[in-house]
Amino acid sequence: MKRFGFTSIRLKLVLIFMGILLGSCQLAFTFAINFYFDKVLTDMESHLMAESHLIRQLAQRTDLSADEIIRLSSTSFYQMDHYSKVRDLPVSLDQGSRAQLEAGTSIYVPVEREHRSIRATLFKLREQYVLLTPYVAAYFDPVAQLMVNTIINCAIIGSVLILIAVRQIMKPLRRLTEATREVAKGKFSVQVPYSGRDEVARLAQYFNTMVQELKQIEFLRKDFINNVSHEFRTPISSIQGFARLLQTSSLPKERLLEYTDVIIEETERLNKLTSNILKLSRVENQTKPTHCTSFVLDEQIRRTILLLETEWNKKGLTLDLDLPGTNYWGDEELIQQIWINLIDNAIKFSDDGGTVGVSIVREDGVIRVHIRDEGCGIPETAKSRIFEHFYQAESSRGRQGSGLGLAIVKRVTELCGGSVTVESEEGEGSVFTVELPLINPGIQTRLS
Ligand code: ADP
Repeated sequence: MKRFGFTSIRLKLVLIFMGILLGSCQLAFTFAINFYFDKVLTDMESHLMAESHLIRQLAQRTDLSADEIIRLSSTSFYQMDHYSKVRDLPVSLDQGSRAQLEAGTSIYVPVEREHRSIRATLFKLREQYVLLTPYVAAYFDPVAQLMVNTIINCAIIGSVLILIAVRQIMKPLRRLTEATREVAKGKFSVQVPYSGRDEVARLAQYFNTMVQELKQIEFLRKDFINNVSHEFRTPISSIQGFARLLQTSSLPKERLLEYTDVIIEETERLNKLTSNILKLSRVENQTKPTHCTSFVLDEQIRRTILLLETEWNKKGLTLDLDLPGTNYWGDEELIQQIWINLIDNAIKFSDDGGTVGVSIVREDGVIRVHIRDEGCGIPETAKSRIFEHFYQAESSRGRQGSGLGLAIVKRVTELCGGSVTVESEEGEGSVFTVELPLINPGIQTRLS
């Protein structure tokens, strides 16, 4: 990978920061210079005015000639020019200024220096006219130089610090990029270390959670494939075995019937398994119920019980029903799947002559349907696992089933915004409770 190309966010950040730094230094410099220049100039002008008073006092108290005083008073901070006639002056004077000058007062006169208009001090010294003009550059250049040096130092130190800072900021992002590449290759064990609670730390935290979820999904997918292959293999081997036996020519008629029965049973099992896998895959890919209508829930449960009549009749079960009239708004076909699977289980796990109970209760914005049986019950260790794909408790092995029914029930109730729970005692029986929300209780559901 190119580590520092023009597309690198690090380079972009460094360039942006340095641009901002240099731009703001330039602005600060311009403001400071202008402000400082005006202030220094005003100070210098008043200083020269005071200087002119001192020179005039010197002339009054001594006998020194104008030339000698001028020579003694010269410094490198102002320019001192003297003229013997007013008309030689580089500035023009109005009547008032001229009268003040002749009366021995120092006056300000405008002059041009280094493209700036400044004020010089003009006064009369004996028979000479003296003009004091500040040396702007003498004051100004060292300060400007100092400022330029400071700004260059700031820019150099700032750039180095920015480089270090950007490197630090980019570090977790680089780690995240590396980790993402690993995940893309199918390695779900990567985790990005992070500290603090800033945006990048949160990104790393969510990334880690996402990878763990993906790992889980990947595990489930592999587990699912293993289970499907396993579930298919048993009936297929059985069919294959019995089909081979059927090839034996001297087989008595009873055996022939027995073997074909087994084959039919196994194909039925395969058929059921396939249809359950398809159902599960359909509901797992669904995000919400699609065909919602208003329907009579108690009627739907009664129809389901009728559908399973052969099964409960075979076992001589008694049905204890408490199904008050209930209108419900939801996906009728999906919800029917819940009752088919739960009532079928209640019948399947009941002992002959037992009782299966189904009741509907409405409570605070929800409808609860209880499906009760007096069958074998569920061992404590299995309770938390029965809703997993393909899980079958040890005690129930041997009974027809694939371990997908409850996984479908759980997914469907979740899709409908509800839940399913179980209470069970081993050897005593089980109660499955399905809770479904009343989406708009006032209009859509009514208990009569
Ligand atoms: P299966 O096709 O095996 O019935 P399910 O997903 O419907 O698959 O159920 C999973 C497991 O939960 C069953 O194998 C059984 O061990 C347990 N189970 C479900 N319902 C009952 C019940 N009413 N009584 C006892 N055990 C039950």
